[in-house]
Amino acid sequence: MSRYRLQPSSDQEAALLEHCRHARYVWNLAVEQHACWMPGRKSAPGFAEQCRQLTEARAENEWLRAGSITVQQQALKDFAQAMSSFFGRTQRKPTWRRRGQGEGFRIVAVKPGDVRRVSRSVGEVKVPKVGWVRFRWSRAVPTGVKSYRVTRDRAGRWHVAFAAIPQPVPAPGTGEVVGVDRGVAVSAALSTGQMLNAPTLRDAKRARLLRLLRKLARAKRGSNRRGKVKAAIARLKAHETDRRKDWVEKTSTDLARRFDVIAVEDLKIAGMTRSARGTVAEPGRNVRQKAGLNRGILASGWGRLVARLEEKAPGRVVKISPAYTSQRCSACGIVDRQARESQASFRCRSCGYAGNADVNAARNIRHAAGHAVSARGGLPLGRPVNREPQRDLLFCG
Ligand SMILES: [Zn+2]
Repeated sequence: MSRYRLQPSSDQEAALLEHCRHARYVWNLAVEQHACWMPGRKSAPGFAEQCRQLTEARAENEWLRAGSITVQQQALKDFAQAMSSFFGRTQRKPTWRRRGQGEGFRIVAVKPGDVRRVSRSVGEVKVPKVGWVRFRWSRAVPTGVKSYRVTRDRAGRWHVAFAAIPQPVPAPGTGEVVGVDRGVAVSAALSTGQMLNAPTLRDAKRARLLRLLRKLARAKRGSNRRGKVKAAIARLKAHETDRRKDWVEKTSTDLARRFDVIAVEDLKIAGMTRSARGTVAEPGRNVRQKAGLNRGILASGWGRLVARLEEKAPGRVVKISPAYTSQRCSACGIVDRQARESQASFRCRSCGYAGNADVNAARNIRHAAGHAVSARGGLPLGRPVNREPQRDLLFCG
C-alpha cells in the first residue's frame, strides 16, 4: 500500500478542505438523486448523465465552478463505483457524507512530473488549484502513478495514496486452472485445498476496539475525550485496512504467478443465488453471528482481490455463475441441499465425498471454468500448454 503522510501548509490545508467540500457536495447530490428514485420510475441517472448535469451545475454556480472539475467528476465516479459494489452485494448502499467523516478526493490523469522527491525523506505532489504539497517519503513511490487520493482522517491528518496500475504477472504456462471461492469462515478457499486468510482484527486489537467503542458510548458529545477516542478508533481501523490491502496485493500476485487461469464466481450473480448458504449481504441462517464483525471486511477485501487479479492476470480470470457451487458435490456432480453439514463441512450422501465446504465450492468453480474454456475450444484441462492462454478463448470479466 502506498499511502503517505501529507504535510500541507495551513493555506494549502484550507484549499484541500475546499476540494473535500466539493467532493462531498457532489457525492451527496448523487446520493439524493438515487434516494428519490422509486421502482417503476425511469432509472436514476448514471455516471455519464450525472457528468452532464455537473457541467450545467458548474455553469450556474460560481462556487462549484471555482473548484476543480476533476475532483467533482471523480466524486461522481466514486459514487458510481459504490453503487456497483452495492448491486454486486459487496458493499452497503452509499450514504450521505458528513463533514469530517471520510473526507477526501481523487485526482486522475497524473503526469510523471507531478510527483517528485525533494530530499531523502520529503516528497512533493502537485495538487490542482493547490500546488506542490509536501509528503513524508516513507518508502519508494510506485512508478507509473496514474491517480492518487487525498484523504483526511478524523484526527485531522492528511494522507496521499498513489495508485499505479500493476504490471501484469506472466502466466506460468502450465495450463493449470484454479477455482477460488469466497468463504465466510476463511477469506478464500482454493480448489487445491489451500485456505487463504485475510488478516482481520487480532484478538488483542479487537478487545481494544471494543473497549474504545464502549468508552465512546460513555463520552459526552463534543467533548475533548470523545475526539481522542474517535481518533484512536480511526487509527486502529486504518492499520487493519493497510494490512488487508497488503494481503490482497500479495495474494493476487501469488495466484497470478502460480496459475494460468483463475476462476472466480461472478459476484453480481452470486448475490442472488446463494441465499441458502448465505451471502455477504444476507447471511444464511448458519452464518454465525461472530462472523458479523468480519463480514464487511472480508467482503470489501474480496472485491479488491478480484479487481487486482484482473489487472495482474489480464485475460486469465474467468468469471462463472455460482449456481449450485455450494450444494453440488465436486466429486460426483450431484446437487444435494442436505450435503452441507454445517458452514464448514460438506458430505456427499451419494458418493461419500467429504471435505471443507468452501474447498468443495472452489472445486466446482474450477470445473465450471474448465467447461467454459474447453467449450470455446481452448485450453484442454490437465494438459500443459506452453504459451499464455489467449484472451478471446476465455470468458473475461
Ligand atoms: Zn458426491
